[in-house]
Amino acid sequence: AKEEGPGSYQVFDEETGAPALRRLAIADALRTALETDALSMAYQPVYELATGRFVAVEALARWNGSSLGVVGPDEFVPIAERSGLIVPLGEWALRRACLDSAQWSGVVELRVNVSPLQLRHPDFAASVTAILDETFFPAQQLGIEITESIWVEDTETVKRNLTVLHEMGVSVLLDDFGVGHSSLSYITRFPIVDYVKIDKSFVSDLPGPQPESVVSAIVTLARAFDLTVVAEGVETVAQLDCLRRSGCDMAQGFLLAEPMPAASVQAAIDAATTG
Ligand code: C2E
Ligand code: CA
Ligand code: CA
Ligand code: CA
Repeated sequence: AKEEGPGSYQVFDEETGAPALRRLAIADALRTALETDALSMAYQPVYELATGRFVAVEALARWNGSSLGVVGPDEFVPIAERSGLIVPLGEWALRRACLDSAQWSGVVELRVNVSPLQLRHPDFAASVTAILDETFFPAQQLGIEITESIWVEDTETVKRNLTVLHEMGVSVLLDDFGVGHSSLSYITRFPIVDYVKIDKSFVSDLPGPQPESVVSAIVTLARAFDLTVVAEGVETVAQLDCLRRSGCDMAQGFLLAEPMPAASVQAAIDAATTG
């Protein structure tokens, strides 16, 4: 197989040509889907553990891709990253989420996933600013979820983008915390992160003495750096109890609420307030 890298297609596949052809077909259809606004966003509620308060939604891209069937973001986001579509996809996602949120009342933070390739783009912060202005969305209510892999290269551009956004009041969440290898050194040397998200692979190991020690260690570390801890992928009451005991601040997961269309979010906000 050909070397893979940003902007290059892997044209030939070791086994058959089919996976490569599927990727090309997806890239093609995704380009059209972006032009015709055929994607949508789903929103997963995030709750504060101590109070049950509805504090935020995480915006997750959805594509009910016509002839290709349902294609999930785990498949189409990496394809967008390799075919030059991640910047338009990221801009579309942020704009859509800011517009959708106008339907909800009560202050809820909106958290949007951002690809490392977007952060390495020198115009990223300016593009976010332009979309916030255009949609009248307050920067203080926006959070961006980034992964540790952003630190690997081009740190100056990434730092500059994050610094500009952070100074505007945008929160920064470190997603999939603990899965990579550089997270520790960067949260200590680069104080721009506000939240860490405990990866769902750790949450799914709960309960048990060792996984509980891992979660407690993450919480202790986060406290030392004044970071708020969010757990993702909470599926059982036992997991939720462990997270609460460990001092985790916020949680999201199928147990609490699944990702939902924009039109359902207000009812979830109201349910949290009255129940
Ligand atoms: P992520 O940011 O780590 O998002 C969490 C994933 O876990 C989401 O999958 C969510 O639907 C799923 N999830 C939520 N609760 C549970 C649970 O209780 N159990 C389990 N097993 N899973 C749960 P989804 O929506 O398929 O997204 C997959 C990944 O695609 C995301 O992982 C994120 O990295 C990426 N992604 C999604 N939307 C966007 C986007 O707009 N832009 C970018 N750059 N990436 C996106
Ligand atoms: Ca995320
Ligand atoms: Ca904020
Ligand atoms: Ca994750």
